Amino acid sequence: MSSLLVINADGPETRVALVEDGLLGELYIERKRERGIAGNIYKGRVERVLPGMQAAFVNIGAEKSAYLHVSDVRGTPDDLKRLFSGDAGKSADDEDDEEADRKRAHGGARIEDLLKEGQEIVVQVTKEPISTKGARTTRYVSLPGRHLVFMPTVDHIGISRRIASDKERRRLRDIVESMRPPGSGFIVRTVAENVSEKELKSDMEFLIKLWNEIVKRSESGRCPALIYNDLDLLLRTVRDMFTPDVEKLIIDSRPEYDRVKKFINALMPDFTGHIELYDGADPIFDGYGIEIEIDRALERKVWLKSGGYLIVDEMEALTAVDVNTGRFVGKSSLEDTITKTNLEACREVAEQLRIRSIGGMIVVDFIDMDRPNNREKVTRAFNDHLRRDRSKATVTRISELGLIEMTRKRTRESLLHSLTEPCTYCEGKGYTKSRQTVAYELLREIRRQGDLIESDTIVIEAHPLIAEVLSGTDRGFIEDLEKRLQKRLVVKARSSFHMEDFEIHSPGEKAIEKSEVASGGARERDEPKKRRRRKRALGSPADVEAMLAEEEMSAVSPDGLAHEEAAQAAARGANGVVPAEPVVEPVAEPVVPVVKTDE
Ligand SMILES: [Zn+2]
Repeated sequence: MSSLLVINADGPETRVALVEDGLLGELYIERKRERGIAGNIYKGRVERVLPGMQAAFVNIGAEKSAYLHVSDVRGTPDDLKRLFSGDAGKSADDEDDEEADRKRAHGGARIEDLLKEGQEIVVQVTKEPISTKGARTTRYVSLPGRHLVFMPTVDHIGISRRIASDKERRRLRDIVESMRPPGSGFIVRTVAENVSEKELKSDMEFLIKLWNEIVKRSESGRCPALIYNDLDLLLRTVRDMFTPDVEKLIIDSRPEYDRVKKFINALMPDFTGHIELYDGADPIFDGYGIEIEIDRALERKVWLKSGGYLIVDEMEALTAVDVNTGRFVGKSSLEDTITKTNLEACREVAEQLRIRSIGGMIVVDFIDMDRPNNREKVTRAFNDHLRRDRSKATVTRISELGLIEMTRKRTRESLLHSLTEPCTYCEGKGYTKSRQTVAYELLREIRRQGDLIESDTIVIEAHPLIAEVLSGTDRGFIEDLEKRLQKRLVVKARSSFHMEDFEIHSPGEKAIEKSEVASGGARERDEPKKRRRRKRALGSPADVEAMLAEEEMSAVSPDGLAHEEAAQAAARGANGVVPAEPVVEPVAEPVVPVVKTDE
């Protein structure tokens, strides 16, 4: 398998694509402005020591003081074990902070004996600050390298539990032990399995040098100060994903290229020949066909080459993937065609899960297959394709209905969540009421409220598409309403209106919201509505029609009635009493200040 790391870094965000055999496999995005401070190391000053909380507040130069619990100053052996239990070993606190604090003993050490106010200390941020709380910090600094994590302040060697072979574990331990500075610690990451001694040693060397630099910086200069900035996406990518499988790393920004080069020279000199500055005319992601793949990964429908397609629904509790045959399939080879489509879908589903970084519970609904051996074949193929995945997936057998349930380890936010926001028009529902539904709703509202309007004209304002429905297919009912109310209905098309909104009032009245719409730009749909009459509970359109038609008209067909009424109304209109047609004003696009289009 030949793969490429394609990096787009010439804009306000850094995007990293792992391309395997010409296909997008993984995608990482970091917006530069959103970068956090977790992982950073600061020289800070102890501001307050709080014996009651067994914690201290440390000024690290951030808006809020950072929090430092006694167990992060000096831990018990248990704390340390926990610290090392993760593969990356970055932090011990994946559970709720306070809960963890309460559970932790701290070996009798008391914060007031360990720290003094005004004291300068080096701390590393383990948790981003959130609105009310400052960052959480620790004095147990950890520096992740490519194969190892360096813990300069803890005397310990840990080996990832995912490395199973005892022999390999012993080899790794010996290598680390032979080079470890006394009193310091290393955790060997899973990726170190079967990596040569030379590579491991160069990784250790790099981390030790890095730490010495941090120490030097902490000894001179001001306080508080940032003394180590954790790697950004670009360098983390280089550190973690630039494996020997990667043929080439190609990047489109000269300064970032230089930065990568410097980093590679220091950390992994063997890879120097494998980086390249992109000089194509097209944007780099266009040049490699990645942009198209990203768009595809945000779509609900994903086409397969055979004409079949997937529907991917990412929901709160689970993700459902539905496999469909696109076109009509001949009867004779039905089972074969279905199996073929399912097999093609296996690969696409596995790829989409990776690109979209979908985690948690996933249900894949393959097309039903009659023969058990075909179901078996599809399950096997699906598992094969999942094997490439860096995130661990657990798959059940395929059920008789063709369902596969699986879980995939959630490592980060899904692509959909990080690149999209709920649709402002439908408010995230994914649909709006149909124009017929809204039109009938409006008519019922006139029927309900029309008598209350004292003028002989009722002004209806609605979205142009609703106005069109009113003036077109349902004209008969409008005319009936006019007759019933003895009022003229005037429909005004307002393209600034939301499809589901309308207003009913007398010509003289100024609708309150309109000025707000005009001044506020976006329509505030949730504020109290005084003039706007919107109903939420609805019968079917058929119910509405029945209600509007009522028994007196039941003898006449709606069509006939419409024409008859239109004729009568036209006659009345000629008398100057009631005009025939609901007046639909043409819409000037874009209608911004709705108020001004009023009479
Ligand atoms: Zn929408």
